Amino acid sequence: MLEDKFGRRFHYLRLSITDVCNFSCEYCLPNGYQCDTPRDFLRLEEIRKIATAFANLGTSKIRITGGEPSLRKDLPEIIQACASTPGIEHVAITCNGYKLPEQISSWVDAGLSSLNVSIDSLDPRMFAAITGHDKLKTIIQGIEIALELGIKVKVNAVLMRHFNRNELDSFLDWIKEKPVTLRFIELMQTGDNKLFFDQNHTSGLPIKERLLDNGWQQIEQNKTAGPAQEFTHKDYKGNIGLIMPYSKDFCATCNRLRISALGKLHLCLFSEQGLDVRQFLLDNSGQRLQEELVSLLADKKSTHFLHDGYTGATKHLAMLGG
Ligand code: SAM
Repeated sequence: MLEDKFGRRFHYLRLSITDVCNFSCEYCLPNGYQCDTPRDFLRLEEIRKIATAFANLGTSKIRITGGEPSLRKDLPEIIQACASTPGIEHVAITCNGYKLPEQISSWVDAGLSSLNVSIDSLDPRMFAAITGHDKLKTIIQGIEIALELGIKVKVNAVLMRHFNRNELDSFLDWIKEKPVTLRFIELMQTGDNKLFFDQNHTSGLPIKERLLDNGWQQIEQNKTAGPAQEFTHKDYKGNIGLIMPYSKDFCATCNRLRISALGKLHLCLFSEQGLDVRQFLLDNSGQRLQEELVSLLADKKSTHFLHDGYTGATKHLAMLGG
C-alpha cells in the first residue's frame, strides 16, 4: 500500500488524460485553452502501465480527469484499460458534461462506475456567463441519461461570491427529487487567478450552518473517505457535499495522488513541481515505476500552503484536473 510518513494511505489516483479544455470557466481558463507548446499526452499503453503499477501498490480507484477528458477520442478505451486492470474496482470521471448525451452509454459499456459533472449554476444565463457556453440543458439531459443507466452522479459547483452565492435554494430544489450528490467546492487560488480569487472566494461554512439548521445531518465518513463533508436529509433524494480546502485539517484525510496528462506525478494539487514518471514506463514489468512511486512519496508534505497564497506549479486546475 502507498503510505506516507504521516500515515495517510493512497488508494485513489487522479489521472489526467489531457490538459485541453473547450470551456472557458472564469476561475480556470477565462481566455480559453492556450496551446503554447506541442503536447504529447499519455498514450493508452502508458495509461495501462500506470494503472497496473498503482493497482499493485494498493490503488483501487482511478478518476479520469483533465482539461476536458471527453475531448480524447480514445476515452472509452482508456476507461476500459483502467477498469480491466486487476485491483482497480472503481473508475470515475470528472467532466464538464457537454458530450454526455451522446457518449455516456459508451463510457458505461467500457466499465465506468461513477460520474462527476461540473455545474456552477442552474441558471442558464449565469451558467453561460461562467463557462462561456450555453450548454446547461444538454448537460442536465446527459445527467438524466446517466441516472437511467444506473450510474452514480456527483455534481460539482464552485462557490463564487459574485456569480452563484445565492443559488443554494435552486440547487436544493433540484436535488429534492434528483438522486445526485451536489458538492460545493470553495474556490481555490491558482497561479493564474489571484485577482478573481480575491474577488470571489467565499467560505462554505455558512452553507454548512444553514444545512444543519434546516434538518440536514452530516454523514459520518469512514477513514478512507477523503476530505469532502457530506450531508443528508430525509426529504431530499440527493445529498450535499462541501469541499473546503481552506478549512482546518483538510489535508489530514488526503487519500489521492495525481498524474498529469504529461506523465508527471503530483504529490499534491499544489505541489512545487510535477515529477516525471514517464521515463519509468519504458520498463515493461512496471517494477521500476512502483519503486519510484514509493520513493517519491517520501516527499509528500503534510498539507498544502494555500493559506499563505502558495499555489505551487499549478497555474490553473485544467493543467492537472480538480
Ligand atoms: N473539465 C472537467 C470539469 O469541468 O469538471 C474536469 C477538469 S476541472 C479542472 C475539475 C474540477 O475542478 C471542476 O469541477 C472545476 O469546477 C474545478 N475547478 C477548477 N478550477 C478551480 C478552482 N480554482 N477552485 C476550485 N475548483 C476548481
